Amino acid sequence: MTTIDHLDTLPDGRSVEDARVEAARAYDLDRRHVFHSWSAQAEISPMGITASAGSYVWDGDGRRLLDFSSMLVNTNIGHQHPRVIAAIQRQAAKLCTVAPQYANDVRSEAARLIAERTPGDLDKIFFTNGGADANEHAVRMARLHTGRRKVLTRYRSYHGGTDTAINLTGDPRRWPNDHGDSGVVHFFGPFLYRSRFHAETEEQECARALDHLDEVIRMEGPSTIAAIVLETIPGTAGIMIPPPGYLRGVRELCDRYGIVYIADEVMAGFGRSGTWFSVDLVGVTPDLLTFAKGVNSGYVPLGGVAISAAIAATFDHRPYPGGLTYSGHPLATAAAVATITAMADEDVVGNASRIGAEVIGPGLAELADRHPSVGEVRGCGVFWALELVRDRTTREPLAPYGASSAAMNDVVAACRSGGLLPFANVNRIHVVPPCTVTAEEVREGLTVLDAALTVGDAHLP
Ligand code: PLP
Repeated sequence: MTTIDHLDTLPDGRSVEDARVEAARAYDLDRRHVFHSWSAQAEISPMGITASAGSYVWDGDGRRLLDFSSMLVNTNIGHQHPRVIAAIQRQAAKLCTVAPQYANDVRSEAARLIAERTPGDLDKIFFTNGGADANEHAVRMARLHTGRRKVLTRYRSYHGGTDTAINLTGDPRRWPNDHGDSGVVHFFGPFLYRSRFHAETEEQECARALDHLDEVIRMEGPSTIAAIVLETIPGTAGIMIPPPGYLRGVRELCDRYGIVYIADEVMAGFGRSGTWFSVDLVGVTPDLLTFAKGVNSGYVPLGGVAISAAIAATFDHRPYPGGLTYSGHPLATAAAVATITAMADEDVVGNASRIGAEVIGPGLAELADRHPSVGEVRGCGVFWALELVRDRTTREPLAPYGASSAAMNDVVAACRSGGLLPFANVNRIHVVPPCTVTAEEVREGLTVLDAALTVGDAHLP
């Protein structure tokens, strides 16, 4: 059985036929007027999305697909949650916009709810419009706080598409944007499956990766380094869970050398890993924590930086030189208040944790047993990756680093034709459904994935 559904109406009551007509017009106008992210404009054919509900989206043909991508890993509370929609509608009727210099009830309440959930003394919240600008501001705060300029980040990371954020990024999307004088230095993080440190165990990988980072810091000059920016669990770069002790070791290095530790939780935060923030998994408190996506599931653009007391104090009597017209926008923060409250009331984070441990993890492990194209399964919560390979012994990726491949394209096409919307990147399929996904939905999705991996297996030499 697959999840393909040919229903007569969409969740909002439109007929499938009306939705098809709308989608055809949208496609036509899109190709004429919309300039797309990360794409060769003449080579793309964007799939239409006309409606969504819970864990599902409807495409331009009115077909229902199970969303194993959460769009761009942001709809943590699921699609079209009624409490979030109602909150946005109420706020629109009350106050649609308010400039950041004024105090406002929903901004204050969102800040309180976030500060209550971030670890340690990260109690001040600076709101941005998304994740990239959150990282831009975190780096600016760290530079002003320390009086230093250099920033260290890991290869195999993504921190956003704006200028500083794309230069922080370690994955190949940086290459065409790297202007060489950003002050960013990259290092290797732990990744046992593709260890740069010739490690065979998690303990070795952890110790050697920390030793490497220590050496990079000493070679670059500790007194020149403002911050280390680290995705707690690197997301688009491959969902690599850090070995036990690594993040604690990074914290210790930052303390030893007076470096600001910035945890990028834009993708890993707000329930994705089965905890409110992924740093909670290891009990580490960074100096700055950036968030976006899950904070309000992307219903209205919002991101931000949670700031420690010490860094906030830097700006007690010295103006912070930065701001955004829409910082703490009322529609976005009203959506955040409703999202966080509903997530707490409905135990959405607990659901993510249980589904990951009881259904997704074991289900993917079974698929790995059956499909030789699966080299490794890793993840937690609703944050999982299947690493696809041409050869399990050599671990040669099914698609080379920084490129796509026919094999991967075929796997993705098989998922879609089976009624599943996956998140694919280079040689990986990420299983990243909403945190609200049910066990039954996960099982449906794994059935489609099973068939799609058979297509992947057929590409093996
Ligand atoms: N940081 C991480 C870890 C991300 O995954 C992303 C986006 O995927 C960003 C930053 C950038 O966020 P945005 O696209 O909202 O600017």
